[in-house]
Amino acid sequence: MAAKRDYYEVLGVQKSASADEIKKAYRKLAVKYHPDRNPGNKEAEEKFKEATEAYEVLSDEKKRPLYDQYGFAGLDGGGGFGGGGFSGSHAFHDFSDLFGGMGGGFSDIFEGIFGGSRSSSRSRNPNAPEQGQSLRYDLDISFKDAVYGTKAEIKFSHNEACSDCHGSGAAAGGSRKTCTACGGSGQIRRQAGFFAVQQTCPTCRGAGTVIDKPCAACRGSGVQEKSKRVTLSIPAGVDDGKRIAIHGEGDAGKNGGPAGDLIVVLHVEPHTYFERSGQDLYCAVPVTMVQAALGETIFITTLDGKKIEFKLPAGTQNGKLLRIKNEGVPVYNTSRKGDLYIKILVQVPSRLSSKQKELLEEFSKLDNASTSPSPMPLSSLNG
Ligand SMILES: [Zn+2]
Ligand SMILES: [Zn+2]
Repeated sequence: MAAKRDYYEVLGVQKSASADEIKKAYRKLAVKYHPDRNPGNKEAEEKFKEATEAYEVLSDEKKRPLYDQYGFAGLDGGGGFGGGGFSGSHAFHDFSDLFGGMGGGFSDIFEGIFGGSRSSSRSRNPNAPEQGQSLRYDLDISFKDAVYGTKAEIKFSHNEACSDCHGSGAAAGGSRKTCTACGGSGQIRRQAGFFAVQQTCPTCRGAGTVIDKPCAACRGSGVQEKSKRVTLSIPAGVDDGKRIAIHGEGDAGKNGGPAGDLIVVLHVEPHTYFERSGQDLYCAVPVTMVQAALGETIFITTLDGKKIEFKLPAGTQNGKLLRIKNEGVPVYNTSRKGDLYIKILVQVPSRLSSKQKELLEEFSKLDNASTSPSPMPLSSLNG
């Protein structure tokens, strides 16, 4: 066997060629030496095989570095790449052999290389039952409804089986017949230059069947768009982005397949005062410096509007975070609840009556406050 030519030489590209340059070079050679264009020409056939082999290696992210480093030896069996790997001594008997084990036919390869679309539906039976499309519905809910749960009425449109033809798409006396244009496969082969390209049959739009007398109500589609209302129960404790699936309320299925689902995606609106972190709620509560210093009892309004009694610890500092147990968000699908955290904002009076001023001056005499306080880090503000 004659010595093999270097793959870069075969494609006529530099060692540093980009994937795109390699693809272009191969395309040029493949078009020039394609056997359909050179019937009976052994030399063209050899050149075509040689170019294809070179392309197969140089377009492969794993094989190209092996080839660069070790040459053909890097590609011989046992080099760490399986089935599709070329071996230096492998003789190809025909083109299907060349592409054997790559999971596709000849035209697949060309469509892949030359940017044609490889339809995944090609091998699918167009008459097989198919589940309908699931639909998305975005629903805004209030912060409070997300915490305590609610019911929401949702109005949406989906495709239902046509009520006139019960989904068959055929009018009375009409029926579904195998499409003669594609013989029922839903795909036709079209010649593009010297390559055959598969495409969806325009007559039956890929269904493989046509209706001789289409239903007037749905124009043969078998489905009608209908608007619908459903009441959705939103459980307590849901969070922003939560998805709730309403089974079977998506689009109708095809060929007797089940309907898709309606997926409701919840968007929780922010609250003016409350914030949420997981199952815990947070808010700020202003108190006077006297309430904080003495540790008075205050009443805190929770998210659901109830007032709860809370005894401040004496000497509560500004920014202190205090926890009130079990006043947070219900844990989804359980009876547990998170906690409510209140951040204490100690407020200093900006106006004092003369009596208040007098008392504070009296207080100050007893307080012995330092007139030269030491600086503290800013983080000390976060209680
Ligand atoms: Zn109909
Ligand atoms: Zn057809």
